[in-house]
Amino acid sequence: MSPDDLLLAHADLRDRLFAAKLLIPSGVDGLYGRSAIFESVLQGVDAAAYALGLADEPTVMWFPPMIPRTTFEAVDYLRNFPQLCGPVFTFTGDNKAHSELVRRLDEHEDYSSSLELSEVALTPACCYPVYPSLAGQLGEDEGIYSTMGYCFRHEPSVDPMRLQAFRQREHVRVGTPDQVLDWREVWVDRIPKLLESIGLEFRSDFANDPFFGRAGRLMSMSQREQQLKIEWLVPVFGEEDPTACVSANYHQNHFGELFGITTPDAAEAHSGCVGFGLERCAVALFAAHGTDVAQWPDSVTKVIWP
Ligand code: AMP
Ligand code: ZN
Repeated sequence: MSPDDLLLAHADLRDRLFAAKLLIPSGVDGLYGRSAIFESVLQGVDAAAYALGLADEPTVMWFPPMIPRTTFEAVDYLRNFPQLCGPVFTFTGDNKAHSELVRRLDEHEDYSSSLELSEVALTPACCYPVYPSLAGQLGEDEGIYSTMGYCFRHEPSVDPMRLQAFRQREHVRVGTPDQVLDWREVWVDRIPKLLESIGLEFRSDFANDPFFGRAGRLMSMSQREQQLKIEWLVPVFGEEDPTACVSANYHQNHFGELFGITTPDAAEAHSGCVGFGLERCAVALFAAHGTDVAQWPDSVTKVIWP
């Protein structure tokens, strides 16, 4: 599909979701409200993705959609993905500075220099708050976690599968390299079963994250060469431009080293995560089975609303 045709296909699906009142426009690309039905489908996908990991007896963790700025800086988000980042700014000035802020506001001037960086940033991937919470030595029965939450990435787009605010269900494994890689293999078997059960077409492939700039190109290449990231791609807009709905990542010792996490026998921990893009799965379902859930195949609704 040509870039122009792809853009039209993105806008067409988005407009169908608006017309069916499944997504609620806000005036900003990638920032939408969700209807009760949309949310119910998303919660069904989340419940199925969570249940798929229950055999591993994960420790469940819930976090707010923000991380400490110290974590945001430590994980090198600004170095690797500055184009996506969302540090939170706030006002810390005195009365005089406030008058200047209000004057700029009233005159529709840029007021960013009236604001200061706060101690928090919007969470870019919902597994990030898990790792710093594990600093120290893991116990024998620790190392598998499950979490879900909102993520922010500044990638405004008319594509309803590319949002600025979206949720992930993430399963996380922290342990020895063998434990993490074996665990990822188990998920490589589990993920297709879930996607098949909800009637989505897909293929899997090795992939890379969108590292920024020239230095980033090398990091992307090395990530692919080492097969650190696997994606399950759903052809919502055709086979040539499929969209990643699920990914499985091996971080090697990146987070273990950064946050001082060690295995029960005191070795530096490795880690991996499996992330389900929940809005992506929901939108893929509406694209595949139609915007009227009453018309969906029974085999699919049985999985979403068991
Ligand atoms: P990642 O951390 O980039 O591997 O993302 C994990 C999953 O989150 C992906 O497989 C997607 O399903 C989903 N995802 C990533 N970026 C977006 C986005 N901008 N909008 C919606 N879902 C996303
Ligand atoms: Zn993750």
